[in-house]
Amino acid sequence: MKNSIQDEFISTVSHEMRTPLTSIRGFSQTLLSSWDRIDDENKKKFIKIIEEQSNRLINLVENILTVSKANAGNIVMKKVFINASIKSILPMFQEQYKTHKIVFNPQKDLPAARLDDDKFQQIMTNLIDNGCKYSPQGENVGITTESKGECIIVKVKDNGVGIKAEDAEKLFKKFSRIENHLTSKTQGNGLGLYITKQLVESMNGEITFESEENKGSTFIVKFPIYNEEEVLKCSQKS
Ligand code: ADP
Repeated sequence: MKNSIQDEFISTVSHEMRTPLTSIRGFSQTLLSSWDRIDDENKKKFIKIIEEQSNRLINLVENILTVSKANAGNIVMKKVFINASIKSILPMFQEQYKTHKIVFNPQKDLPAARLDDDKFQQIMTNLIDNGCKYSPQGENVGITTESKGECIIVKVKDNGVGIKAEDAEKLFKKFSRIENHLTSKTQGNGLGLYITKQLVESMNGEITFESEENKGSTFIVKFPIYNEEEVLKCSQKS
């Protein structure tokens, strides 16, 4: 990161940390100073807030570590069969997102892609996480893979709140969250898609989305097919 970007990043991060920290300190102080005067129901409510805000901080720290790792450029590009890669993390998703059904429809005999497998799995995790966060419980989140021209295409589709055309620009910006009736209910810090885009682009890929408000969204990620002789590029049109 260049220095000015880094400064801006640090000041935004500090700001993002202050809100949960202030809340944790405030509720702990209240509990400590007025323990005997607070009824059990309120004690539980305050402790729940402390837990939620701690989770928010952990999430933020994890995301910041990912940003710095993504920026550090320690990417190992290899021949990766992404159907197998997705299959290997599918049980984890199914365990983690019990509120939704994660459905995987791979293209048979999909050629290998050229990418870093760990980073690819992180991209998938972010997109599936969003698919679950921004769609009602009980809905499907679908993953498909296909090859077209020199590209491998992975799609993550949900049937959720969707994204308004005017919000499209904000989506991949860091710390930008878009208001919808589910954002207020879900944990998030607006870093997921920023990191995802950085990761995709650092591996010569491209990320786009299609969405209709209240009908759902599909995030489309493209990576070059693996080729022994040369590093292929995915063209915009493919
Ligand atoms: P976060 O989820 O932490 O807010 P992201 O960077 O992952 O951050 O997403 C930024 C914003 O984009 C979210 O706040 C949400 O409003 C919107 N968004 C992301 N994924 C989806 C999706 N699948 N459906 C609808 N809105 C989405």
